[in-house]
Amino acid sequence: MIMSEKKKCPECGEPILGRADKKFCSDMCRNSFNNKQNSDVTNFMRTVNNILRKNRRILEELNPTGKISVHRDKLSEKGFNFNYFTSTYVTKKSHTYYFCYEQGYLAVENNYYILVEDNKGKEPKEENEKA
Ligand SMILES: [Zn+2]
Repeated sequence: MIMSEKKKCPECGEPILGRADKKFCSDMCRNSFNNKQNSDVTNFMRTVNNILRKNRRILEELNPTGKISVHRDKLSEKGFNFNYFTSTYVTKKSHTYYFCYEQGYLAVENNYYILVEDNKGKEPKEENEKA
């Protein structure tokens, strides 16, 4: 069971006094919270986050074993967006891995991609390295 806690204003963090269904401590906090929620920047960030999460899910789906090679069409079919990633990793051989969170990919020849999984920050293996 979760212990009952005093509700806090999501805008300023102050405990909310008064009616149990009150969501904010004041009209001012409600307005500024809602304005932030609807700002263009917030919407843009939400869109980007959704694309990144979708990319990550696609990579994870296609790569159940932790390392696999797939054709670009397979990624595109699922709606993968190659313009968005969270980080890159350049190997000693100057190959660039693109990561969406812990899921990554490396472009190889003939429109194929090697999908890799970054195990909690460990360096990905070279694509021709024997495991
Ligand atoms: Zn408040």
